[in-house]
Amino acid sequence: VARNPGEAEFHQAVREVLESLGPVVRKHPEYLEAKVIERICEPERQIIFRVPWVDDKGEVQVNRGFRVEFNSALGPFKGGLRFHPSVYLGIIKFLGFEQIFKNSLTGLPIGGGKGGSDFDPHGRSEGEIMRFCQSFMTELYRHLGEYTDVPAGDIGVGGREIGYMFGQYKRITNRYESGVLTGKGLTWGGSLVRKEATGYGTVVFANEMLKSHGESMEGKTVTVSGSGNVAIYAVEKVHQLGGKVIGFSDSSGYVVDEAGVDLELLKQIKEVERGRVADYVARRDSAHLGRDGGIWDVPTDVALPCATQNELHGDHALTLIKNGVRVVAEGANMPTTPEGVSAFQEAGVLFGPAKAANAGGVATSALEMQQNAGRDAWDFEYTEQRLTEIMVGIHETVAETSEEYGMPGDYVAGANIAGFVKVADAMKAFGIV
Ligand code: NDP
Repeated sequence: VARNPGEAEFHQAVREVLESLGPVVRKHPEYLEAKVIERICEPERQIIFRVPWVDDKGEVQVNRGFRVEFNSALGPFKGGLRFHPSVYLGIIKFLGFEQIFKNSLTGLPIGGGKGGSDFDPHGRSEGEIMRFCQSFMTELYRHLGEYTDVPAGDIGVGGREIGYMFGQYKRITNRYESGVLTGKGLTWGGSLVRKEATGYGTVVFANEMLKSHGESMEGKTVTVSGSGNVAIYAVEKVHQLGGKVIGFSDSSGYVVDEAGVDLELLKQIKEVERGRVADYVARRDSAHLGRDGGIWDVPTDVALPCATQNELHGDHALTLIKNGVRVVAEGANMPTTPEGVSAFQEAGVLFGPAKAANAGGVATSALEMQQNAGRDAWDFEYTEQRLTEIMVGIHETVAETSEEYGMPGDYVAGANIAGFVKVADAMKAFGIV
């Protein structure tokens, strides 16, 4: 804490991982001798830079850009870029740290990193977004490369922003290096299923948790927080598996739709019109805006937090438990506070932590890199099959690891331990670097 002052979310993420590692270092004291834990908590490189741009009124704006290249033991740094006013070093470091273990769990050759800016895209024009993205890449490009560091999207960074950044990268470097960013458009190096991957993967993971207890998503009610990229495709997969999503939210409020969310209307409002939850309610008779409390007050079998960090608190968890929730799978990164996680685990709710449950996004990004490297493009069916196999594999690894270390059913410990051991072994093999 003294070494990284004021970085509350980073401290929270590190504490959560280290709390799981007691049994690992007892079994492998060589990790302590090689100071693997101290080294893994220290980013390999952190880049902080000025992002100046001119808004539509002709005024100069200055934002701060970040790229934390956390760990490349398993492959090039890989992780998204977040554009949101709440971004500061502590958020990027927490996300980058989590990314190390998540990427390890995918079984694919990718290291961990994260980046972004305190830029707020809400209410900005197309021209402003483009100029910001170009300025951001004008500094970032020199740190990237398909064998070095490969960013993707995150909150506030979707296909449009990746397009502007890739265009600027290509222009500056004179290289059509499609493997340098993932989440690209389908006609210029993107992968089918990437857009859907995080939401789909989260629901596949939740379904695997249910299956290991003799149940499935079929017939379950589900609530989802957020209505961005992860949330929308979580809704889609729940409906494909026979469940019913009865509520979702954004930062302006939440919607209850007992008839089941109308996915096409949700996509139209959120992806095309970039509207708010109230616009959905205005066009859907069976839906109403949440009157008080929040999305976690809606009784449900399955809860999928898919918006942002620390959005599901201890008291929300107790309400969900009281209302009979069976499964919680994190689509967002660290959406549940430590009090929330403990409450779920004590109540016997199946709890799938982000680094396992939402790894489908980065896994499919790695599949996009594979296609780029092979100058190839796979079809939807094959790519989704790969994603599903990866998610089923992660569930198996996490469940087996939790058993191996004497904590069966503890997906938090299983994910932290399995993710850590692979990175630690690679770091040990490399010597003190
Ligand atoms: P988007 O920007 O597409 O969507 C974010 C959604 O969350 C929006 O609906 C936003 O509402 C809502 N939201 C943000 N903050 C709050 C808040 N404080 N309260 C309520 N709603 C809020 O981002 P993504 O869907 O890509 O990312 C969501 C989460 O998933 C993040 O934690 C991200 O790190 C994680 N994730 C994303 C991956 C991906 O592939 N995209 C991969 C792995 C993890 P509003 O529009 O009103 O701000």
